[in-house]
Amino acid sequence: MLDADFFRRWMTATAALVDREAERLTALDSPIGDADHGTNLQRGFTAVTAALEEEKPDTPGAVLTLAGRRLISTVGGASGPLYGTLLRRTGKALGDAAEVSAEQLAEALRTGVDAVRTLGGAAPGDKTMIDALVPAVDALGDSFAAARDAADEGARATTPLQARKGRASYLGERSIGHQDPGATSSALVMAALAEAAG
Ligand code: ADP
Ligand code: MG
Ligand code: MG
Repeated sequence: MLDADFFRRWMTATAALVDREAERLTALDSPIGDADHGTNLQRGFTAVTAALEEEKPDTPGAVLTLAGRRLISTVGGASGPLYGTLLRRTGKALGDAAEVSAEQLAEALRTGVDAVRTLGGAAPGDKTMIDALVPAVDALGDSFAAARDAADEGARATTPLQARKGRASYLGERSIGHQDPGATSSALVMAALAEAAG
């Protein structure tokens, strides 16, 4: 079973990976965006880590809803409300149980990803974070490691796509040939989940 501590470890591992990869995320956001994705998420997840230390939420649901709220309030870009919605809605779906199973997490995360799809209007293949999140949630029934690998593969597969949502879509065909920064950071979020589980 997964307790609040597990979810705290997931969030701190995400913050650490985002810190480590911030320059790469911003570099990916340079040719098809406004070169701020790494700094956006760095600011957001630093605030998440601080909030978790201050408020010490004591259930899985409370950890994720606090993290989501903090992302929404600190990240100005498109990714803030989208990741914030992902975590808040996943947390809400977990309810107030002290511990949840991996199956419950997989189901809750699917609710969260569906909320991101509703908010952003992106479908698979639109070259967004959805292209990493959907395969990850599909694979989560197998294992955390499978979800991590599926997200990574999904992120890589965005390179040949033309963007149909977000800033990159303004470039039309010129968005082809670049890996999507948001799909790349979603792969980091899933890698952090596998790390917390391992
Ligand atoms: P901004 O584009 O406002 O500068 P970021 O650079 O932080 O925000 O995030 C950009 C990423 O957000 C994109 O690479 C993409 O994955 C994701 N994104 C943008 N718009 C959408 C959307 N409508 N639905 C899903 N994801 C989106
Ligand atoms: Mg940007
Ligand atoms: Mg921006």
